[in-house]
Amino acid sequence: MAQHDRSRRRFLSGLAAVLGATGLGALGVRLWGGEGSVSTTSTVPRPTTTAPVAAPTSTTATMAPPATSTTSTTSSTTTQVPAAVQIAAICRDAWGALPASGTFTAHRIERLTVHHTAALLEQNAQAPARIRQHQQYHLDRGWPDLAYHFMVDAAGNVYEGRPVDAVGDTGTAYDPTGHFLVCCEGNFDEQDVPDAQLASLAAVLAWAAVAHDVALDTIRGHRDWAATSCPGDRLYPLVADGTLARMAVDVIGRGGAELTVDCGDAARQRVAAIEEGST
Ligand SMILES: [Zn+2]
Repeated sequence: MAQHDRSRRRFLSGLAAVLGATGLGALGVRLWGGEGSVSTTSTVPRPTTTAPVAAPTSTTATMAPPATSTTSTTSSTTTQVPAAVQIAAICRDAWGALPASGTFTAHRIERLTVHHTAALLEQNAQAPARIRQHQQYHLDRGWPDLAYHFMVDAAGNVYEGRPVDAVGDTGTAYDPTGHFLVCCEGNFDEQDVPDAQLASLAAVLAWAAVAHDVALDTIRGHRDWAATSCPGDRLYPLVADGTLARMAVDVIGRGGAELTVDCGDAARQRVAAIEEGST
């Protein structure tokens, strides 16, 4: 308990800096969701895409920001609309997921929890196979699916996991009901977090905060809830000191994050390219 209190104080002091630095009130971002907080209605547009649990019928999108207009009609007085960060999650079929089995338990997302796989990732080309192995392992444990709602690889690719409206699973002693579970591929007790992976993690958290109306001060690491080193000594400090929350605030301030689930041939080709080491 005392350890948790200490980490919470570190986290809150980090977020105090966020409030001062970014003018969150002006953004209308509901950063504080705890008791005694002032809850404001978010003025940030919600993602216009379907939820990631929807059937994988969406069209292909890319991780690149929208192309700027090539027309010459833009006047110098036109207000620039911030471009949303586009998250094109790789659908389950495209990364080779097995069908879910068993029964999911429904829940409502109330907090955001960061994990790592604790499996050293030496080449990002291994990532899709690793995610398939994790899912197989989790099914073998008797869980209905991959434990997590989303996975993020070292290159920042995002993979669709268990439906967000289904409670995740854990081998540790905490109840994941209400937790949005995002898991970074890698062992961050032993390796650094690549910038691209951290940026995608922040974008996914920003999307989840807005899509599920959850305050960013609920971002925690797995170790805040259970006896585990997860998400690793090189990632957890970025959770505890508010760095990740600040990055998510920045994403929202720049226009938010839009998440689509990328499926079909194009998505399978993306996975093939990752496995060939070209992305
Ligand atoms: Zn974990």
